[in-house]
Amino acid sequence: MEFYNSTRNHMEKITAPEAILRGIAPDGGLYIRSNVPQISPEEVADADFLKLAEKILSDYLCGYTPEEIHGCVERAYRGKFEAENIVPLKKVGDRYVLELFHGPTAAFKDIALSILPQLMRCAMEKQGLHDEIMILTATSGDTGSAALTGFRDVEGIRIAVFYPDKGISPIQRRQMTAMQGSNIAVCAIDGNFDDAQTGVKRIFREMPEEFLSENGISLSSANSINIGRLVPQIVYYYSAYLDLVRMGEIQMGEKINFCVPTGNFGDILAGYFAYLSGLPIGKLICASNANNVLTDFLSEGVYDKNREFLTTISPSMDILVSSNLERLLYLAMDCNADAVAEKMRELRETGRYAMDAASMRKIREMFDGECADDDAARDAIRRVFEKHGYLLDPHTAVAWKASEDYASKTTDCTPCVVLSTASPYKFPQSVLAALGAEVPNDAAEQLTLLEKISQTRMPRALQGILERKVRFNDVISPEDMMAYVQRKAACER
Ligand SMILES: *Cc1c(COP(=O)(O)O)cnc(C)c1O
Repeated sequence: MEFYNSTRNHMEKITAPEAILRGIAPDGGLYIRSNVPQISPEEVADADFLKLAEKILSDYLCGYTPEEIHGCVERAYRGKFEAENIVPLKKVGDRYVLELFHGPTAAFKDIALSILPQLMRCAMEKQGLHDEIMILTATSGDTGSAALTGFRDVEGIRIAVFYPDKGISPIQRRQMTAMQGSNIAVCAIDGNFDDAQTGVKRIFREMPEEFLSENGISLSSANSINIGRLVPQIVYYYSAYLDLVRMGEIQMGEKINFCVPTGNFGDILAGYFAYLSGLPIGKLICASNANNVLTDFLSEGVYDKNREFLTTISPSMDILVSSNLERLLYLAMDCNADAVAEKMRELRETGRYAMDAASMRKIREMFDGECADDDAARDAIRRVFEKHGYLLDPHTAVAWKASEDYASKTTDCTPCVVLSTASPYKFPQSVLAALGAEVPNDAAEQLTLLEKISQTRMPRALQGILERKVRFNDVISPEDMMAYVQRKAACER
């Protein structure tokens, strides 16, 4: 059996169900399996999304039986997505768009957050855990509603979601604040996403043990630092590849590139795992918005978050500390956990760290970094709609532009799949403005106008969203997050 260990420490080896229950390692590191399973595309050539998911999850998540994984996959995906094949691939011009937004909240995070609660519930039963689990999640907009949808009314689990009060779209906010479910709490933070994420990490570090044991609670995370979030995302890289083969666009074995709109580095890291597992990937293009800390990292070898946090029209990518990069560092530095711990200490204390040349060479073999600001993203939305009649959301638009920039700076003509992470209907205001339309003030009217202009239908997931009643109004300062969680954990038991 293959075990998981922390990126900051090799001493403790745990199974996948344990790693999923914990979320983050006690030393602050992220769980990782340095020895990845090999899965050739030939061997899964005929698999549909559910079968692929079963294969990849079973191979990666040692400690679950194939029957358990089968049950989790069925409950997570069967009949739960608006697109029958879960993640359709569309040809748009000479690129391909992988639509990851046909789930219950119309964003790509649904893919992992539909199955994480199933994996967690199953792990609780396997481990004979009697505690209640309290999931803490910081969100830049999309994780929150996807996590709430996945975890609501799951027995033995509660969830608290923290989002930045400013900088998410009205539709994203309403999706969370109007969410139904008896085991959920939703709270705005007077700060940005990094404040919310730092606050959650601090609760994990500083929550008193006695409080947890007195209340019979274990903490866990639904953020993409949880390995149970990451592994399900490997599946759609394979799915896109196999679709291209089936469409006759590539030959089996031929390489393709992926361009990924990136925030916390989870989505693109799943692509790297797909590559390590044997999927023929040429390059992973890391697309950032104006918060381009990753673009600079990839070009200069220095990670430096000492810069202004910018609020953009692609809020789910407004991040200066990309947590999952830690896993890439670990792999690039030959699994040297002490070296990773040292870099993360530097990051915490000085806000920056520099990589050695050899590790950067390894990283750059697979990763290219590009960035596009709001103007460039708006321009891409307009151009792609005018030329191809296809509507991009602002996050996907950043990736589209990045893929163009990559193409024009290199001679690489490998087929390129752009990952589309959200429905344009989650961001009607920005999309309408990009198209040059006069934007109505009323969000419901924005949705209708977008339908009219684009001749498409809004996703089922968003129909009637603005008529739902707001249940959660709390706004607190980041310092008060611990007290908030303790109150929510101790009450109504
Ligand atoms: C979360 C998110 C991203 C960024 O994904 P990461 O895994 O954090 O890199 C991009 N686009 C959308 C719409 C998202 O919700």
